[in-house]
Amino acid sequence: MNLFEMAKIPLNKAIEVMKLDPSAADIIATPERTLEVSIPVRMDDGTTKVFTGYRSQHSTIMGPAKGGVRYHPGVNMDEVKTLAFWMTCKCAVAGLPYGGGKGGIVVDPSKLSERELEGLTRGFIDRIAPIIGEKMDIPAPDMNTNAKIMGWMMDEFSKIKGQFEPGFVTGKPICLGGSLGRNAATGRGVMVAAGEAIKALGIKPKQATCAVQGFGNVGSWTAKLIHDMGVKIVALSDINGAIHNPKGMNPYDVEKHLQKTGSVVGYKGSKPISNEELLAMDVTILAPCAMELQLTKANAAKVQAKVIVEGANGPTTPDADKILDKKGILVVPDILANGGGVTVSYFEWVQNLYRYFWTEEEVIEKQESLMIYAFKKVYDTAKEHKVNMRTAAYIVALGHLAEAMKYRGMY
Ligand code: NAD
Repeated sequence: MNLFEMAKIPLNKAIEVMKLDPSAADIIATPERTLEVSIPVRMDDGTTKVFTGYRSQHSTIMGPAKGGVRYHPGVNMDEVKTLAFWMTCKCAVAGLPYGGGKGGIVVDPSKLSERELEGLTRGFIDRIAPIIGEKMDIPAPDMNTNAKIMGWMMDEFSKIKGQFEPGFVTGKPICLGGSLGRNAATGRGVMVAAGEAIKALGIKPKQATCAVQGFGNVGSWTAKLIHDMGVKIVALSDINGAIHNPKGMNPYDVEKHLQKTGSVVGYKGSKPISNEELLAMDVTILAPCAMELQLTKANAAKVQAKVIVEGANGPTTPDADKILDKKGILVVPDILANGGGVTVSYFEWVQNLYRYFWTEEEVIEKQESLMIYAFKKVYDTAKEHKVNMRTAAYIVALGHLAEAMKYRGMY
């Protein structure tokens, strides 16, 4: 089964529970448009290398498509379509006026020089320019892309259009119209979701422990902000391995170690463990914040966490979901838990459109209240329909999408 088919399993469950009109269900199950492009880049050695890129617009029912661009050797059309579909659902759960999109380039960016990376980024924007723009489709960072890359994208698109185009991309440097609070936003949302989840179970932060898989943008901010909430961070990991300290670790300090050595592994006072051991750890909160398909049929039965908060997109397979459900683990699904990034991207876009900027405190306050509201809506929907939080999140998303489709005369 490919990733997109797998991603539709919880969607179909929600369609069944809410008895959604089959025409509306068909529209949601099919991406509106996916573009594949070739990007020739003049390399430092004088040769020209051709890279493959994608931009998928799953839906523009609720507004312009919105979603990140990923640079990774594993990027493929199926993955991009799936991620775009999740964006549609994520924006709908959070109540944002966006559809869903996603892009990617098949590349290992660590093998490119800065000049080659810039050439690749500009070439990608040149190719997808006809289908993007602040009212059509708004890119953002994802795996291996960052504010600097978004700055190049904005510059290239502004050149193509012959005018300043800050609202066409989010996650930009602050001086180019980026929003305060965007960098930490996805991790902040994961922290809010974790906080609400343990509150629902009657657990106080001081009594809780947490393990975070992945220590990139999402994982590091998740760990830092959950630590700030008073929860003990006992395990962390990155692609090089995992570390454990039952007494707790300060993620701000771990970040300094990572900056010096390139990995969380070897942090003082910690013991190296495997990725599998981290996922199976007896903790209150497990936050998978690395990549897709981490909790599977093979390891779900070993999970001991009380709450799983999905910082990454699609870290849990449908088979694993069933096992986690049976174990009574509260899973806060990706389309709710990691919606903080796109929420603050939305704030950035709004600020760009009216060229007036908010303080970081305003951004944080607005983000947290939106996310607490979304969590409550999903939690209450789960109780009402006697389903898990994932099915409930899809019910909430589909409810918004179906209503918009109806009024647009689509079914
Ligand atoms: P990133 O590249 O900054 O970080 C990824 C981290 O995961 C790194 O620490 C890396 O070493 C680690 N990692 C990779 N493979 C691993 C493995 N097999 N085991 C353990 N660790 C591993 O990426 P990111 O932006 O933090 O994104 C992480 C996930 O969150 C992705 O699924 C992404 O789609 C999702 N996401 C990101 C954002 C955002 O705003 N950045 C928003 C929503 C969802």
